[in-house]
Amino acid sequence: MPVFHAADFDAHEQVCFFTDADAGLHAIIAIHWSGPGLAGGGIRMWPYDDEQKAITDALRLSRAMTYKFALADIPIGGGKTVIIGDARTAKTPALLRALGRAVDSLGGRYICGPDVGTTPEDMIHVGETTDHVRGRPGESGDTSPATGYGVFQALRAAVRHRLGRQDLAGLKVAVQGAGAVGSALCRHLHEAGAEILIADVDSAAVARAEADFGAVAVTPEAILAVEADVLAPCALGAVLNDQSIPEIRAAVVCGGANNQLAEDRHGDALAGRGILYVPDYVANAGGAINASAEGPDYDAERAWQRVGRIYDTCERVFARAEADGIAASRAADRLAAEIVGRG
Ligand code: NAD
Repeated sequence: MPVFHAADFDAHEQVCFFTDADAGLHAIIAIHWSGPGLAGGGIRMWPYDDEQKAITDALRLSRAMTYKFALADIPIGGGKTVIIGDARTAKTPALLRALGRAVDSLGGRYICGPDVGTTPEDMIHVGETTDHVRGRPGESGDTSPATGYGVFQALRAAVRHRLGRQDLAGLKVAVQGAGAVGSALCRHLHEAGAEILIADVDSAAVARAEADFGAVAVTPEAILAVEADVLAPCALGAVLNDQSIPEIRAAVVCGGANNQLAEDRHGDALAGRGILYVPDYVANAGGAINASAEGPDYDAERAWQRVGRIYDTCERVFARAEADGIAASRAADRLAAEIVGRG
């Protein structure tokens, strides 16, 4: 199982493997960069069918956190925890406390929070064994409204850049996933007069989007290739791959899901087809930006203004892509690596 020679290894500072036999914990914590003194990133729990996939996720997601924070001007580095296991059946308070001990053993170099498979409530148990946790209920628990707003701003910037349109009225947007982020995005799109096509494996989520936003249902199998101006992946990772990219009919891809590109080269494939892809970690940084503003001086209006600046960050990324003759995904990586001095 390569780590140092894994395709996604990017001079990560530390990759730690943790087990706790009593609690059934198998976890990897990857610290990509802790230059400002601290690395942050969520805890993902997923039933990986092989350990190499878990390592790959930890490496890719922790690097994406560094880049997300850098481009959002948040002064911390990126890290990530991956727990191997099914969150529906294997997640127990004992396992979360064991994970907290693992986080604590890093002495504060890494600070964790919720991600796919973990909730703000789970962070209460993690917090029983470490102080280096955020995102408990009442803290930055639900990040999705700010994430959705940030994706909306990114989408506006991309539509203006690629389609020359400022007004979203009548714009056709295909949204994959009507969960927390997808719904938050749909709310802004609906207010802006866009036409929404929605797909979700959960029929109740689709029904809500139909009722709340006048969305038109599309099957989950059809959504990526549906005729639309914009495709907004807001569900799963790796949806932009060798199979889907040739079939995409939208001119812009901009959504909230993490790790949308199956591999980095798929960013080039999208650009090669003339599709403007907004790098996921640029578009979906709103929740992190809002959470980073929390504290005694929290000012919601100021925090949301900062989230709104994702629009300007996208313009910087698009300009760099044009100047260097590269895909927007490569341009964002380049800009972020320069900011953190790892270019
Ligand atoms: P969520 O669980 O609320 O929503 C995901 C939705 O996708 C669910 O409704 C689910 O049924 C649906 N889905 C699953 N498989 C699908 C498929 N094959 N086709 C269509 N729909 C499918 O999660 P969320 O918080 O909205 O997060 C969505 C994505 O955004 C994830 O990739 C997450 O990592 C990313 N993200 C979320 C945040 C946040 O603030 N919540 C921040 C950054 C990134």
